[in-house]
Amino acid sequence: MTSLGKVWLVGAGPGDPGLITVRGAQLLADADLVLHDGLVNPLLLKLARGQCERTARIRRDGQAIVPQTEINERLIQEARRGKKVVRLKGGDPYIFGRGSEEAAALQEAGVPFEVVPGITAATAAAVYAGFSCTHRELASAVALVTGHEDPTRDQSRIDFEALARFPGTLVFYMALSRLPDVCTQLVSAGLSPDTPTAVVCHASLPTQQVIEGCLGNIAERIRQTSARPPSLLIIGECVRQRNHLSWFEQLPLFGLAIGIARPEEQAVDAAEQVVRLGGEPLSMPLIEIAPVDQPQASRIRHCIERLADFQWLILTSSNGVSEFFRHLRLAGRDARALAGIKIACIGHATARKLEEFGLTADLVPPVFRAESLADELIRHSFGSKPMLWARASRGRDVLPEWLKNAGITLEQLTVYENRDVAALAPEILDRLRSGTVHWITLTSPAAARRVAELLNAARISPASLATQFASISPTTSAAARTAGLQIHAEATAAEWPLLLEAIARNNALRSSTH
Ligand code: SAH
Repeated sequence: MTSLGKVWLVGAGPGDPGLITVRGAQLLADADLVLHDGLVNPLLLKLARGQCERTARIRRDGQAIVPQTEINERLIQEARRGKKVVRLKGGDPYIFGRGSEEAAALQEAGVPFEVVPGITAATAAAVYAGFSCTHRELASAVALVTGHEDPTRDQSRIDFEALARFPGTLVFYMALSRLPDVCTQLVSAGLSPDTPTAVVCHASLPTQQVIEGCLGNIAERIRQTSARPPSLLIIGECVRQRNHLSWFEQLPLFGLAIGIARPEEQAVDAAEQVVRLGGEPLSMPLIEIAPVDQPQASRIRHCIERLADFQWLILTSSNGVSEFFRHLRLAGRDARALAGIKIACIGHATARKLEEFGLTADLVPPVFRAESLADELIRHSFGSKPMLWARASRGRDVLPEWLKNAGITLEQLTVYENRDVAALAPEILDRLRSGTVHWITLTSPAAARRVAELLNAARISPASLATQFASISPTTSAAARTAGLQIHAEATAAEWPLLLEAIARNNALRSSTH
């Protein structure tokens, strides 16, 4: 890359990964490098195809790790190397985010840049907590104020007298550490201590927490709870509307962290459904992948030389797609080698991966299952050539059996190894031990057995956990019980949405009995 790159300062929105703009999502997918701050939800980074890196300017204890000038310099350097750089910032890049300082540095260095706004924390917090900061009868203005000023500044630039007279809602960003002081100053300046006040933590996230009170008692209430940043202090009559406009906290999985031990192909959609129901998806992969060994690589190469001998190429995972194309490149070929062959993908995630290589699948079965794929392939088989399945080293054997019964020859080509992970990820183990994983979902008997083994390997007794287990089917439940896991919810039929529904039902029951 020799031409000059460019930097896009992009607002990531307040937390819910669905709240980025369409433009922001496109840029993320397109970027060579994404430099994000600590507020950005990791789920959002799944949209990125390039490298992602966190640049934390402030550590929790307030010490700067990476000075702002260094971030500015990095953006300039990467763009000069020709990269498309997305600087992804929580909320809106120009609202208390120092985005405009980064833009000024780029401008000065002659690096082209664009800015994409985002939903700022204040608007999201109000909507997700259930009030409007500018309700027609309650507030005719809203002020966004920083609660955390530059500590090197001698005198506060916040005019508390003016804010006390402000005819509308006050929203303080970065206010948690200075909250008692801010409230005292406002009361001293004449604002009534009875003014309705709320602190909204983790707005739009499953960990959202709203603490209500009035200006005079909110500091005390905060002391008694476990309010965690990021949070906003919102002061004004509008806060009262929360009683009838609260909706987010009513979602069926609100507040629940749900471990997803599903194959990679289904995990992204599964996680998205959890988010839409108000829950926090935690990825718990049980399988890891690895490239094939040298003798197998030679076999793949040989097969690639005779692609014209096949009628269909069958792809059943995005890893399979990536690995197939890697071997195609190694063989000195590209997508044109597939010109004469039809391509079937098992699901939309696989088909999307294929599109990255410039190809559209000829067939994606209506239901994401090997049986459905086999059915469709049998219907669409033509001539007498065999079909080619680029597969993982392990997997179900439905496809070969069904095709064989239909008289179709299937050649199976292992393009990557998949093997059991040796241990659960350290983040997951930490959370299990601290009791902050509410559910683990089990979607097959093998997964149930494996989860039990991995807990055992980590010396965690399932009975000691605050975590409950949800199963997708009676056979999965039976396998789980045999392996020592108690099942607390079971899907009415073996489908992911119904599994989530079972968890929601159990949760509603628990909340109503507590
Ligand atoms: N550019 C960001 C704000 C950056 S300053 C925006 O437009 O939202 C960081 C402050 O934003 C935090 O201290 C907190 O006050 C607020 N904030 C960011 N995300 C938040 C969230 N999900 N919930 C509550 N407050 C949030």
